[in-house]
Amino acid sequence: MDYDKCVMLLFDGARFDVFNDLLKADKLPNIKKYILSNGTFLKGYSSLPTTTGPAHIPFIYGIYPGKANVPGIRWFDKTTAKRNIMTNSDIRSYVGPGCFSMGTDVAKNYIPLYNYFSKPINILGFLDKNYNVKLKTDRIQKTLYYIYAHYTGKWGVVDYFTAQSVKRYIEQGNDFIFSLFPAIDEITHLHNPVHEKVLRQYCKLDEFVGEIFHSLSDGELGKILVFIVSDHGLSKTHTHIPLVNLSKEEGYLPIFYPKILRRKYDIAIMESGNAMAFIYFMEPVNNRPALYGEFNIVDKNKKFINRLLSHDGIDFIAYRIDNSSIVVRNRHGEIIFDFKENERIKLINIGDNPLEFKVDKDSIPLSESLNFTMNTNYPDSIVQLRQLFNSNRTGDLVIFAKDGFDLRERYEWPEHRSSHGSLLKSHMEVPICTNIKLKSTSCRTVDIFPTILYKLGYNISSNIDGKVIQ
Ligand SMILES: [Zn+2]
Repeated sequence: MDYDKCVMLLFDGARFDVFNDLLKADKLPNIKKYILSNGTFLKGYSSLPTTTGPAHIPFIYGIYPGKANVPGIRWFDKTTAKRNIMTNSDIRSYVGPGCFSMGTDVAKNYIPLYNYFSKPINILGFLDKNYNVKLKTDRIQKTLYYIYAHYTGKWGVVDYFTAQSVKRYIEQGNDFIFSLFPAIDEITHLHNPVHEKVLRQYCKLDEFVGEIFHSLSDGELGKILVFIVSDHGLSKTHTHIPLVNLSKEEGYLPIFYPKILRRKYDIAIMESGNAMAFIYFMEPVNNRPALYGEFNIVDKNKKFINRLLSHDGIDFIAYRIDNSSIVVRNRHGEIIFDFKENERIKLINIGDNPLEFKVDKDSIPLSESLNFTMNTNYPDSIVQLRQLFNSNRTGDLVIFAKDGFDLRERYEWPEHRSSHGSLLKSHMEVPICTNIKLKSTSCRTVDIFPTILYKLGYNISSNIDGKVIQ
């Protein structure tokens, strides 16, 4: 099939299992009819952090957030931060108006998908930087719609706007449309992943798919390469762990969002989603990421880490021990990954493996790591932790909340009753639908970018992380 257009519909926050159940129950008839009847439904594996924004980078750039140097929805950069004077390159939150910085924050040597088309459109997406033709994007509308939906809870209105825009731009002949439907994510935060209002929104999106595609002839539809994707799932949250307050109880002076303008601080705490958080210790190393052997010699840090490890709601923590090795640890055991070799990972397991996969060899090929971890509660853990620690902006310590917990108690209005951001299966597994026939039944979200380029006949640059889906 010769495609001359591509449409990507991002159902933000859609979970694989929820979507799959609805599909099996025949509750998504339009997606079945227009996309899957001659296409493929795949289980997708997202990327860390499993949050809106960073987890969109794989779709637009074909690389992981760590390589993009955008490792969190909030981050702090010890390599540039000068004490007392905080500038725009030191700290970031993409929540709210900061979302428009993401496109310019992505490392410059990667080419966005928009660049391959002559009339690209971005509808409500965070990533709106392009280098050749002007990318049409709707920053003012996005701001107004998001403010309205934030205060009224009517996120369905925003999805409606996106759907109408997609329909109009297809009619106007735009050749690449990236479109963000934020309602499933936002409504799930207010309720839970299988709340009736959330399920209704999945069905509403299916109706929109019908509206978008029903007026096209088979010939017209056959020229459009379609992907319906999701960036992450969510899990129900019953307890908020006050990570910032815990740090204050240990005697730290923290900076965190929205309180980032403190003149004296000795720790930065940056949550993503909010089931994952970065901790940056300013003692003893304040100008680069610190290794465990460095930050753990400070008594206060050591006490705080032990307190986190003994907390019921903390699943595990991760940190660097040298330039190529990281450790993932909980109170029952730890696993050490050595990433020195490009294609093989060395493993050392002490006690129980916090990431659950069986370690009966001392190394595995990188190419097998997804299969190796797929059936655990933390799918693709090895590759995802490796890519996350690729960025200097990733914390000295990365904290992962247990299922049911998150890491941010205050300053989140309305209260979040569901969370994402971590390696949990419910956050990592996402539905992927395409109207192309593929043999595979699963992929990583980072693989969609090269698959689109391949189907459209473009060369695929060697500096990306994704692989063409077979
Ligand atoms: Zn999202």
